[in-house]
Amino acid sequence: MKTAIYPGSFDPLTLGHLNIIKRASMCFDKLIVCVMVNSKKTGLFAPEERVELIRRVVSNLPNIEVDASTCLLADYARKRRARVIVKGLRAMSDFEMEVQMAVVNRKLNPNVDTMFLPANEKYTYLSSTVVKEMVRYGADLSDFLPREIIQDVKDKMQELVRRGG
Ligand code: ADP
Repeated sequence: MKTAIYPGSFDPLTLGHLNIIKRASMCFDKLIVCVMVNSKKTGLFAPEERVELIRRVVSNLPNIEVDASTCLLADYARKRRARVIVKGLRAMSDFEMEVQMAVVNRKLNPNVDTMFLPANEKYTYLSSTVVKEMVRYGADLSDFLPREIIQDVKDKMQELVRRGG
């Protein structure tokens, strides 16, 4: 069974991420979308909430599992017996850092390699950070986020604003 991991912060999942998920899932028997938990960063959504939102969006795609991990990615891949890490590349500016991480991950786990998918041209500008800015200013989110989670993102941002965040 060919298993790949698509790691990220997904705070929140965007249409750019979803595009990569759909394309990558066609190349493998199983794709694990893994929310990588970085204890130093507090996000908009808690990791469990991100997992729940992603699960909702991918619920009708057959070969996707959604998980969260606090491990090093190379160790997580070993644990899950995955040989491939999938990354989306939006611009050359992503490239340098991503190649560096791919080399490090391969050093830590020689059984794992990284495959890059170019972002769909519609989404090269899109990041979770851009989405958070858009929500703040009440912009239409339908070009940025899967429709199933738009309300959740708006509600979360309002909650944050109410609390003075
Ligand atoms: P960000 O916070 O930058 O949106 P994440 O850390 O959640 O991103 O990204 C997870 C993975 O998804 C990374 O490989 C990243 O390059 C990729 N990615 C992020 N946004 C897009 C997009 N719009 N199109 C394609 N790939 C993307």
